[in-house]
Amino acid sequence: MNAKIAVLAGDGVGREIVPEAVKILKAIGETYHHSFHFTSADIGGQAIDKAGVPLPNDTLALAKQSDAVLLGAVGGPKWEGLDYSLRPERALLGIREALGLYANLRPAKVYANLIDASTLKREVIEGIDILVVRELTGGIYFGKPKGIEQLPNGDERGVNTEVYTTEEVRRIAKVAFEAARKRRKKVTSVDKANVLESSELWRKVVIEVHKDYPDIELSHIYVDNAAMQLVRNPRQFDVLLCNNMFGDILSDEAAMLTGSIGMLPSASVGAKVGLFEPIHGSAPDIAGKNIANPIATIASAAMMLSYAFQLDKEAEAIDRAIVKTLDLGYRTKDIQSPGARIVGTAEMGDAILRNLT
Ligand code: NAD
Repeated sequence: MNAKIAVLAGDGVGREIVPEAVKILKAIGETYHHSFHFTSADIGGQAIDKAGVPLPNDTLALAKQSDAVLLGAVGGPKWEGLDYSLRPERALLGIREALGLYANLRPAKVYANLIDASTLKREVIEGIDILVVRELTGGIYFGKPKGIEQLPNGDERGVNTEVYTTEEVRRIAKVAFEAARKRRKKVTSVDKANVLESSELWRKVVIEVHKDYPDIELSHIYVDNAAMQLVRNPRQFDVLLCNNMFGDILSDEAAMLTGSIGMLPSASVGAKVGLFEPIHGSAPDIAGKNIANPIATIASAAMMLSYAFQLDKEAEAIDRAIVKTLDLGYRTKDIQSPGARIVGTAEMGDAILRNLT
């Protein structure tokens, strides 16, 4: 296949980890005979320094014309004093909005060799492989009315509104069912339908959409129980389908089961162009030292192959190479363990590259 990929490395460790992922994608292209065309552009602090804004028009235009976007991370102490509207992090909101990314996919997978990095017991987390599908553009973070108003007695009243339409639920439910088809074919929809009308509608629409996916097993769980089950028996979950706020909270909880931020990829998808990025930030404390873990970004590239291009075989090849590299004892500093072979960012990328074939 032919695909145009926008490469936005951004700031801090983004500039070290993104080239490793590009290296892997190029190798996949050669091995499996795909033409991937990479074009880089500025975003975040780096764009502020060059163009005065965190998301230049050229960058946005490139993203829109591409088939997928690979993003590193943005931000850093250098830009912290700037007005909020000019901060590097504004670029993330801007690009997500402009690309209409309404679904965020965050896998939380425990690698056999890294079980001890988790704060939970081995027997609880061994073998977990969860995908949190979070609705990203609706719900209480955007619903109106919202704000803080003055009351006649001098107190104030803070208001936010949880609101979902049939169509908003329908499209995110489809993303979850489609994702489950690539996995163990189980969707657990998270809601609070015993209390919230918006959840009642959520559940009704999810059940309706499920009729088109008879091969997928659907169950429902209240959010409080989901939070509990995630630490009690996380292996029961395959795909967790969540609204914006529940997904925000549960995806972080699921991520922490695995214990290492440098390993976790993410995908945001919408109508057309998807965005693929590690969940971590620019890690200014370790930037420029060749010690950042590139695996989250390389795994994000694998998600790109699977979710943007339907190249599942190629994505699996990357995932297998990551597992093999860890099995061989290669570790970056953040996931080091006794007896392991500590390597830098580029060396980890090279090792994964060697293990691709
Ligand atoms: P962070 O995720 O950058 O770092 C948190 C901790 O995890 C740090 O100790 C860091 O060294 C470590 N870490 C992160 N990625 C790692 C990797 N690949 N390998 C090894 N260790 C890694 O979060 P933070 O420190 O809160 O934020 C730093 C900057 O990043 C801030 O400017 C913040 O606004 C920005 N940020 C950007 C994004 C994004 O671009 N999507 C997300 C979160 C934070």
